Amino acid sequence: HKYVYDFSEGNKDLKDLLGGKGANLAEMTNLGLPVPPGFTITTEACKAYLATGRQPDGLAGQIEAHLESLERAMGKRLGDPQDPLLVSVRSGAKFSMPGMMETVLNVGLNDQSVVGLSAQAGGNDRFAWDSYRRLIQMFGKTVCEVPGEEFEHALDEAKSAKGTHNDLDLDADDLRGLVDAYKKIFLKHTGREFPQQPREQLDLAIRAVFESWNAERAILYRRQERIPTDLGTAVNVVTMVFGNLGPDSGTGVAFTRDPASGAQGIYGDYLANAQGEDVVAGIRNTVPLQELEQLDKTSYDQLLGIMARLEEHYKDLCDIEFTIERGKLWMLQTRVGKRTAAAAFVIAGQLVDEGLIDLDEALHRVNGAQLAQLMFPRFQLDHEFQPVAKGIGASPGAASGTVVFTSARAVEMAAEGKSVILVRRETNPDDLNGMIAAQGILTSRGGKTSHAAVVARGMGKTCVSGADEIEVNVPAKRFTVAGQTVNEGDVVSIDGTTGKVYLGEVPVMPSEVVQYFEGSLDPEHIDNALVRAVHRIMTHADGKRRLAVRTNADTGADAARARRFGAEGIGLCRTEHMFLGDRRELVERLILARAEGERETALEALLPLQRADFEEIFREMDGLPVTVRLIDPPLHEFLPPLEQLAVNVAVAQERGEDVAKEEALLAAVRRMHEENPMLGLRGVRLGLVIPGLFAMQVRAIAEAAVACARAGGVAKPEIMVPLVGAVQELETVRAEAEKIIAEVVGDSGVEVLIGTMIEVPRAALTAGQIAEAAEFFSFGTNDLTQMGWGFSRDDVEGAFFWRYLELGIFGISPFESIDRDGVGRLVRIAAEEGRAARPGLKLGVCGEHGGDPDSVHFFHEVGLDYVSCSPFRVPVARLEAGRAVV
Ligand code: ADP
Ligand code: MG
Ligand code: MG
Repeated sequence: HKYVYDFSEGNKDLKDLLGGKGANLAEMTNLGLPVPPGFTITTEACKAYLATGRQPDGLAGQIEAHLESLERAMGKRLGDPQDPLLVSVRSGAKFSMPGMMETVLNVGLNDQSVVGLSAQAGGNDRFAWDSYRRLIQMFGKTVCEVPGEEFEHALDEAKSAKGTHNDLDLDADDLRGLVDAYKKIFLKHTGREFPQQPREQLDLAIRAVFESWNAERAILYRRQERIPTDLGTAVNVVTMVFGNLGPDSGTGVAFTRDPASGAQGIYGDYLANAQGEDVVAGIRNTVPLQELEQLDKTSYDQLLGIMARLEEHYKDLCDIEFTIERGKLWMLQTRVGKRTAAAAFVIAGQLVDEGLIDLDEALHRVNGAQLAQLMFPRFQLDHEFQPVAKGIGASPGAASGTVVFTSARAVEMAAEGKSVILVRRETNPDDLNGMIAAQGILTSRGGKTSHAAVVARGMGKTCVSGADEIEVNVPAKRFTVAGQTVNEGDVVSIDGTTGKVYLGEVPVMPSEVVQYFEGSLDPEHIDNALVRAVHRIMTHADGKRRLAVRTNADTGADAARARRFGAEGIGLCRTEHMFLGDRRELVERLILARAEGERETALEALLPLQRADFEEIFREMDGLPVTVRLIDPPLHEFLPPLEQLAVNVAVAQERGEDVAKEEALLAAVRRMHEENPMLGLRGVRLGLVIPGLFAMQVRAIAEAAVACARAGGVAKPEIMVPLVGAVQELETVRAEAEKIIAEVVGDSGVEVLIGTMIEVPRAALTAGQIAEAAEFFSFGTNDLTQMGWGFSRDDVEGAFFWRYLELGIFGISPFESIDRDGVGRLVRIAAEEGRAARPGLKLGVCGEHGGDPDSVHFFHEVGLDYVSCSPFRVPVARLEAGRAVV
């Protein structure tokens, strides 16, 4: 079994086996780019190790062989006292998990080889001892679990002894002293001396990287990002190159385009005289990559050439890590870079313009979740708000919240329902919990590529990084800025696009993308790369998609907005809100009616009100289908709650008031009480039990449609009967409805369809029969999920779903994204059998799943005609319906 691949043996498509980092190091090697030689131990070796707790047979020998050939190629031996080969041992999984797993640099250094390293570097003692102290620090922390703060503390002490804040002021002697201090810390925590054997260092480091796959923060990150838990990480063993050799050396990270806005140009951070970790960790403030041109023009030009080459090769935005060792450029990593939602659209559009990809591919490069993010509101700054600080717009959005300074506090306050902003000097992987809980993240250090920035962008969370006017004092729970003090509990607002920080809560306004959908920004006439890219990609999606997109709307205003957002009709118009407000009185009369006449009077009073509602909606949706659901919830939902009523009656009686009416109401509420209202008298059952109720609604719909037609419009009503489980129920309702419709419609030309929701599992399983009486089906996937799983939605989500998610019983709530295997199968069966019984049966979905990206793909696959979702989700559904085709 082959467990080890030389960089020259791999390529970018072997990510499963070599991890992203290894596969791309191999790809760059084969492109002829300057990559330090090395090899990759596969994810399979990691999986075998994690399963059995020991290295699989044959791995040790293969590592040995690859190490030997690396030594031959470099003309040096690992840890050789005179001229040591040093390597880094780097984790690298299939999906990038920035900073989540471990890497150890400078493996091979010990008390002897540190001297050899210095000699080889022309007597550069400072460099050699700096490298050695880094090894002990990283090795101690990641391989032997020595608390990192102890090393940091010793480093701080060395600096303050020297009277400096800058690690570059430490000279060789200081660093030699620091190595001694580090060794003592190591001994104290591990009970053993720092290992001097280079091979032992290497083996232990490899093992630690394997194990870092199951580090707590890595597990948490995978859950958050929905990365499968069983992939394992590869291990890359890479010849060290040194950015800490002096001012003519350095290290940096770069993006081939701006990962925040998508703008073309050079984006990156560079740090002279430093080793890799220093840039990302934000230890010292980096300089913009452009300044490298002054420092080392040759390397700068070469880097730009390589970046262009990588973009052309990967046909996408790439991010890279590089190091310059005494004027020689080395590539240490590349990958297709993470980006903000806005950048994803802008870059996809640019790549089409540049001829690197076509529009179908551009559709693949964006997704509905990103579009949803672009529809978040923005700060409205035409008020008196002035920024108090400006950092880097690291991850866009507008977030306001209460300031907290620790991850734990963020979690606590978020659990109390507060919106919080996590403020840190810089974040590290231990802050992950707090970052998840926070509304936004603000740091005073670090660039676009800092930990906070990268992780926040991945989560789609607002982040401002490197706001260095801010002095963060974590122990005192406050920060100071512009002469003001902000304490834990105060409110701030951060703008992740501009990087600006405001005190207090800034009001918000619709985003540009929403303004575009609303029709108030014309993409042809404004100079806005994002709006133009969104317009272009949406237009392509609309041209490609087979699924129509409708909206769920109960009012004319919602209908109008959804139509501007591209809705092609209403898939669900609920009628229950039409029974609320001042109409409650009428509904109470309806419910309390004892004698025949009373009920009819109440219904007659409701009829014109309902008709007016429908007229408004038909007018807004002129020419488009409108599915109206007959009343669904149990009637007692329209009455006051039992306890409140009982108290009112008692109090009124006490005062000697006339309580006849209240008592009657109370009796009715008692009479109608249900143990399981979800499964009780609702939907079609109500229509079959309360004479005249459905008839009134059907009449209101038909009369409204005729009124619209008379006024020159085109109304296309579709009457939908909820909660049907048997065809007989539907037939009964249908017989009565057809009579009313025929009578009302007459020769007006109005056509009214009658169909049903499929939301009871029995309906899905007898869909062939039901289709005989239905002209359309609309899948009510909320109830279908509820009844399919036997989950009472209102009860279970908060109660135990977290545990189910933790155990991996499902990866996402089945109420959020359709459960393809179970509930989805019911949909599939009903669609097939319904269409077999009635070819041309119209099929749609009106549950909340209609606006969920994954679910939209599923509904496309099973051949539905349309999805229906809330107005704000309409653009997302349009985009995903297009993506489902290409
Ligand atoms: P991560 O996945 O967290 O970025 P990496 O494995 O990329 O971790 O390594 C951490 C840092 O060390 C990076 O900045 C990287 O460029 C640097 N680095 C890794 N290997 C080497 C090497 N062989 N020579 C010099 N720097 C290295
Ligand atoms: Mg890296
Ligand atoms: Mg329902």
